[in-house]
Amino acid sequence: MTHTRGRAISPSGQNSFAGGRTLGTLQVDVDDLWVYFESLGRQAPAGTPPLAYREGVPRLLDLFDRYRIRATFFVCGCDLPAQVEGVAEIARRGHEVANHSNLHQNGYARLSYAEKRADITTAGEAIQQATGHRPVGFKAPVFSFSADLLQALAELGYEYDSSLWPTSMRRHCGFCSEFSQEAVLTPITTGMS
Ligand SMILES: [Zn+2]
Repeated sequence: MTHTRGRAISPSGQNSFAGGRTLGTLQVDVDDLWVYFESLGRQAPAGTPPLAYREGVPRLLDLFDRYRIRATFFVCGCDLPAQVEGVAEIARRGHEVANHSNLHQNGYARLSYAEKRADITTAGEAIQQATGHRPVGFKAPVFSFSADLLQALAELGYEYDSSLWPTSMRRHCGFCSEFSQEAVLTPITTGMS
């Protein structure tokens, strides 16, 4: 894998290349509890704590600091502005903040082109407000990839998509097996290899 987006992991633990060899990227999907409720067709009860931001993200940031790892965190736009401090802290600690859609809707691939474009745009703007940087990477909810997604991302200036599952999804995730793919990162711009 020779792309330069998201954060690359080298054998030395530096977030770059080692002797021209890159091992891969480390990606975190910041899916808070409400995502899991909605994936089961339920709405999260009022007062559901944002445990991903309150507990998970801080622990991961400390862990990554300890091992000098720089990762890519995919965040949902609708968690902002409530979690603006958490998202800003991810960026301050040197990690890439990328777009994991606005609403993390089930069946993302089945949304219309206009709906996808609007959802990506809304999340991208929220992330840019929180971090000061326009996100350049995207991952569809539940790896729900579709060809027109790449078109929308290209039009919106994104550089890569990470919505493809690297192995057969059926072996890992029975309820989300609608797309089973072989690649993990799909460069969008011709400037990437
Ligand atoms: Zn997710």
